[in-house]
Amino acid sequence: MNGTSSNERRATPRRQWKQRCSAAGVHLFDRTTGLNVLLDELPVPASLYSRAPRQVSIALTNRCDLSCAHCYAPKSRDELRFDSITRWLAELDAHGTLGIGFGGGEPTLYPEFVELCQHAARETRLSVSFTTHGHHIDSELAERLCGNVHFIRVSMDGVGATYESIRRRSFAKLLESLGRVRAISRFGVNVVINERTLLDLDDAARVATDAGACELLLLPQMAVRSVKAIDVDAVQSLRRWVDAYRGPLKLCINEASAEGFPTCDPLSAERGLCSYAHIDAMGVLKPSSYAEVGIPLGESGVLQALDQLAYDLAENNT
Ligand code: SF4
Repeated sequence: MNGTSSNERRATPRRQWKQRCSAAGVHLFDRTTGLNVLLDELPVPASLYSRAPRQVSIALTNRCDLSCAHCYAPKSRDELRFDSITRWLAELDAHGTLGIGFGGGEPTLYPEFVELCQHAARETRLSVSFTTHGHHIDSELAERLCGNVHFIRVSMDGVGATYESIRRRSFAKLLESLGRVRAISRFGVNVVINERTLLDLDDAARVATDAGACELLLLPQMAVRSVKAIDVDAVQSLRRWVDAYRGPLKLCINEASAEGFPTCDPLSAERGLCSYAHIDAMGVLKPSSYAEVGIPLGESGVLQALDQLAYDLAENNT
């Protein structure tokens, strides 16, 4: 066991609003409760807009001990340096980012994962979340993360045999892990939707609800290496499922797949790099985790790379 002090285990959450200004208005966010308040009647001059994206995902490592066919993460051992990440977090925090999402690969395999979450929770005002397959969250890790993470996303594509055929891990063990996840923070369940997992969606929503999740993130399958993108008929079935869903979970969908779904986005004035950016495990800033090219983050930091990326994207669109 690692020598973990009680102070380390129970960081005191800072209960304070963080403010972000953009074309959408003045946005107040409390990372402890996840509460958002948008003062959209307050006009904000463009000179006061926050310069960093509202949300940034960071792939800490490309390592993962699973091998899901739909995975987009490169199969390499690339890993970010702890001191680089903490420098970027400070910059993003100072320039209006509200939330940071650690991913990978599998972020719990990052050697200093707990220390990084502790640092982000204590030294910044960022909301700290991570996406995980959940199979490394044992009692000790759960205890060390408690108070240092504000939201967790657990991948669960279908239930029972469907899940096990995709993830090659025990579904019963995943359910045990969800109990520990629930003790750390609020959490949601991510489902990659394809023709097969679609059939399990009622059960997946029920299991997620029973486990205490508050959100179901629908991720229509994208084409990567050996798998095709979800077909058009399945997307239509998914739309019908969403229309008919009356359960307690908040339904979410990734922006790239949102067309045709009944979404509600009060921050629609924040688009593209204003709303989201991704840093991959090689330290390249991208408009999304699926993007193939981006801007390497050098010593000059995230904001300069963002400006360059915005310029390149605008050039490619003209
Ligand atoms: S668990 Fe996630 S990172 Fe690992 S192979 Fe599956 S999709 Fe990729």
